[in-house]
Amino acid sequence: MGEEKRLFPKTVFYFMSEKKHVAILGSTGSIGTQTLEVIKSHPDKFEVEVLTAQNNADLLIQQALEFRPNCVVIVNELHYQKVKDALLHTEIKVYAGEKALAQVVEMDTIDVVLTALVGYSGLLPTIKAVQAGKQIALANKETLVVAGELITQLARENGVNIYPVDSEHSAIFQCLVGEFHNPIEKLILTASGGPFRGKTREFLKYVTKEQALKHPNWDMGAKITIDSASLMNKGLEVIEAKWLFGVSQEKIEVIVHPQSIIHSLIQFEDGSIKAQLGLPDMRIPIQFALTYPERLKADFPRFDFAKYPSLTFEQPDVDTFRNLNLAFQAIKQGGNAPCILNAANEVAVAAFLRDEIGFLEMSDLIEETLQKSCFIEHPNLEEYIETDKMSRIITEQLIKSKV
Ligand code: MG
Repeated sequence: MGEEKRLFPKTVFYFMSEKKHVAILGSTGSIGTQTLEVIKSHPDKFEVEVLTAQNNADLLIQQALEFRPNCVVIVNELHYQKVKDALLHTEIKVYAGEKALAQVVEMDTIDVVLTALVGYSGLLPTIKAVQAGKQIALANKETLVVAGELITQLARENGVNIYPVDSEHSAIFQCLVGEFHNPIEKLILTASGGPFRGKTREFLKYVTKEQALKHPNWDMGAKITIDSASLMNKGLEVIEAKWLFGVSQEKIEVIVHPQSIIHSLIQFEDGSIKAQLGLPDMRIPIQFALTYPERLKADFPRFDFAKYPSLTFEQPDVDTFRNLNLAFQAIKQGGNAPCILNAANEVAVAAFLRDEIGFLEMSDLIEETLQKSCFIEHPNLEEYIETDKMSRIITEQLIKSKV
């Protein structure tokens, strides 16, 4: 371990006097739209090169007309003609499909790729972007969960920095500025505990997706909101942190902090702890990932200590929320285990959102899929892809056998 494992620079790659050219993968989602808000408030600092969306053609068209990127990609090819027709009178190029999504990141004019795709779908485009030497602002944590070892190695080989957008990891990154050479004794990731904090297994058995989709502090997409309710989001973040900061899982702790004001903490070897605080607002980590090491003036709402007389902390209830332990087990096992965990979780969350399984069954499915899948200690890219495919089949079969 140590600093050579870390992905952060001692040198500054950008000079903010020049405009930074940004590609946003997943521009119509929660992170994508907030990234465009950040960009809109600093027209002198950023230029939008690429926008991509999975299905939301209407919003993609609207964004393209406003931000005038070089090109757009609509991944679902069924919407291609609609986007093409709407942008016909402009010079914006329109592409469609998964392949276009992976290729478009290689464009010469791009400086930084912000990856806000959902789940496993972010893996291949991120690999392509790293190979093309693009700096990465990473919101798609599943990419590092699935293939963290491969991605971080590629990033080092290509001199690419991966800047975290995830609020906890951004917090740690912000605490590390000026300290990159100092060893980390412990990383402490904070978790809100989600909408079901303090609930029993008996209660969770019957919760609905509507209940699970109500996050107390953050307004996010459906997949990550369910992951937050089940604590899988924190499990994925532990794995993400291991790869981003080059620390082993034994040095990573999770603490529940229901107010979501402290976004995470680092403990250094002298016992000193640094924390990063603020109101829960994703625009701060998004902006910092795009402007590091500078901070740009922003009018985001400010935190007021007087309004939060008590910030509280408690241990996560891992007997009730088993996913956090499953994630720790997977990263300890290493190899393709986190990839299996992620695939099983994506299938389980989708099934829960279709009302096919109960909330607690998600953990059962992930555990069984981990047991039934073939373990590979040092997978290559093809083996990660195969693992993802096979694990999904196993989880689907388990769901069918239960219904
Ligand atoms: Mg997070």
